[in-house]
Amino acid sequence: MRDKLIVGNWKMNGDLARNARLFDRLAAGWRAPRGRAMAVCVPAPYLAQAQAALAASEVAWGAQDVSEHAAGAYTGEVAAAMIAEFGARYAIVGHSERRQMHGETDALVAAKARAALTAGLTPIACVGETLAERERGDTDAVVGREVDALTGMLGSDVARIVVAYEPVWAIGTGRSASPGEAQAVHASLRARLAHAGADDVRVLYGGSVKGSNAAALFAMPDIDGALVGGASLDADEFLLIGRA
Ligand code: PEP
Repeated sequence: MRDKLIVGNWKMNGDLARNARLFDRLAAGWRAPRGRAMAVCVPAPYLAQAQAALAASEVAWGAQDVSEHAAGAYTGEVAAAMIAEFGARYAIVGHSERRQMHGETDALVAAKARAALTAGLTPIACVGETLAERERGDTDAVVGREVDALTGMLGSDVARIVVAYEPVWAIGTGRSASPGEAQAVHASLRARLAHAGADDVRVLYGGSVKGSNAAALFAMPDIDGALVGGASLDADEFLLIGRA
């Protein structure tokens, strides 16, 4: 039985005062039922604040990206080991915003997943198709290629990652995939992961998840939780998703 996981992706939002209120609300409001976990992935400068605010709570924390390099002359990059020093458990890699705006390739995303694992972090590797790719009927080919890059780089260690299926057309648009649409892609991802010997990898859904649509998505057999952007900035809404 795969545990459910709900992860907030704050993106480039927050300030110390606002974070403190959000952390406090989550720490006070989240009592993890058996088999269910919650985490927030915050901008890197706020990892220390997350650690101080959440260490005694049942909410875990993580980063939104890692460098593929361990250390050295990579100005502006943040190494996975640095993130791990702040008690982080997770690191998102390959979010579509990074693939699209920062030119991250499948190979780079896989190298980042490897770097995260080496530092003891669990990578949450994002895959997903654009609207044009979906309309061309290429969804399975696109997400399959993205997952194959991960299995190719990680080998049997792919069993230690989390995958997030995030259709690009659903991110931040208010238009979530329907439970059936998401389930179809999750089932195909699961089959591909099982073929690589990673039957128990959790596959999260991401894209306009809210309190009002979470339960229907989580009722699908291959949806193991959610990666939540906008709604994770609202404690009540995020807790609602966690309890759905
Ligand atoms: C995301 O950024 O990963 C995401 C899923 O965003 P939203 O929930 O706002 O669509």
